[in-house]
Amino acid sequence: MTEENYQHIYVVIELEEGKLAPVNLEMLGKARRLLDNFNKKYKSDEKVVAILLGYNVKQISKTLIEHGADFVIYADHPKLKDVINTIYTKVIAQIAKDKEIATKISPENAKNFKKPRYMFFGADSIGRHLSSTVLVELESGLASDINKLEISDIKLTHQYKTDGKPVIYEKTLEMYRPDFSGFLWTTILCLDNKNPSIEREYHPQSCSIIPGVFEPIKPDSKRKGEVIQFSPTIDEQDLKIKILSRKIIKSEVDFDRCKAIISFGRGIKDFPEKNIKLIEDLAKQLDAEIGVSLPISKKPFAVSESISSKYMIPDRVIGTSGKKISPMLYVATGISGAMQHVEGMKDSEFVVAINPDENSPIKDECDIFIKGRMEDVIPKLIEEMKKQSLVV
Ligand SMILES: Cc1cc2nc3c(=O)[nH]c(=O)nc-3n(C[C@H](O)[C@H](O)[C@H](O)COP(=O)(O)OP(=O)(O)OC[C@H]3O[C@@H](n4cnc5c(N)ncnc54)[C@H](O)[C@@H]3O)c2cc1C
Repeated sequence: MTEENYQHIYVVIELEEGKLAPVNLEMLGKARRLLDNFNKKYKSDEKVVAILLGYNVKQISKTLIEHGADFVIYADHPKLKDVINTIYTKVIAQIAKDKEIATKISPENAKNFKKPRYMFFGADSIGRHLSSTVLVELESGLASDINKLEISDIKLTHQYKTDGKPVIYEKTLEMYRPDFSGFLWTTILCLDNKNPSIEREYHPQSCSIIPGVFEPIKPDSKRKGEVIQFSPTIDEQDLKIKILSRKIIKSEVDFDRCKAIISFGRGIKDFPEKNIKLIEDLAKQLDAEIGVSLPISKKPFAVSESISSKYMIPDRVIGTSGKKISPMLYVATGISGAMQHVEGMKDSEFVVAINPDENSPIKDECDIFIKGRMEDVIPKLIEEMKKQSLVV
């Protein structure tokens, strides 16, 4: 099996109410940059291929090409209007394995083509689910929630994968994700078994990409690309799930309403209920909205139901898994400053952190670091503000 069984980066595009979410253009931008370097290094001509599913969606192809796609393969069908996982999985897998499509993209390599080389999905609520089911269909692996990607040649010796012998894995996608509370990078590789006794391929090398981490390329209205229609095979069996009505539930937390946002994290642990009430008082003084770190949304501490249902909820999470904010003032109390949290608040104009641990990474992200426990610091801040009647 040669490497040229695989080619191109396929980017799965996701529409919400017929519109492109920003992560789509970010993925295309990253794919474009990776592939430009790849083609130079390996003297090849592989393509960025966008997969677009929906109903009346062809006109979106132009935007995708302007943002880096060489080809857009679109499937237009009334049954694809809303994302139904079973149907989307089937159609994306059909496109990924389709030899006719592959021939249209690169006729010179059509005979060898088996599957895409790499495949990207957005790591949002739809993409996280869809990526896993598509990769089951394509019988390969998936790295989820990735925020750094590189392509390189890696020399590896592994008891099973390489039968204990050193093997060079060319064109390997190194997929990085922050783990262990965001303080350690994990590199995930999806490698073929090259051991003759258990030979097996693992392509496409695939991942879901965290929104907001990669830059789109500058759109170029003169970029050339090709748009190809794909006619999916959808049978009765696939149509068992029907969407009868659809309603987007709007967040009740409006971070744009306020100039100031106060977030709290696991540092509330010693007196959770009391500390949250203190934070409420400070928020009142500052006319601020209240945010939380991701672990708080998992309700890690026992507090009254009214506090828990108001604050310990996903809607208030700041970071890669929640909201991106840019207030005039951001106060982080009891928050360590993991990179996923920082990603959500780094555009704040002025940042104050309250934390007893001077070595917390949040110290590097703030304009004022108040070393101390929130139980001691917040009452003093409130007292001082009341004296000065300070209102933002
Ligand atoms: C894929 C993925 C996505 C993620 N997405 C997000 C995300 O969107 N948002 C997010 O926030 N996290 C996210 N995380 C989790 C993230 O990695 C961290 O685990 C999390 O942000 C840590 O939360 P924390 O700061 O509340 O807790 P900790 O890291 O436990 O920090 C608690 C802090 O409180 C301080 N403290 C202790 N006592 C007090 C006191 N009395 N007063 C004041 N401070 C005190 C401590 O010194 C410490 O710095 C994600 C993780 C993964 C793997």
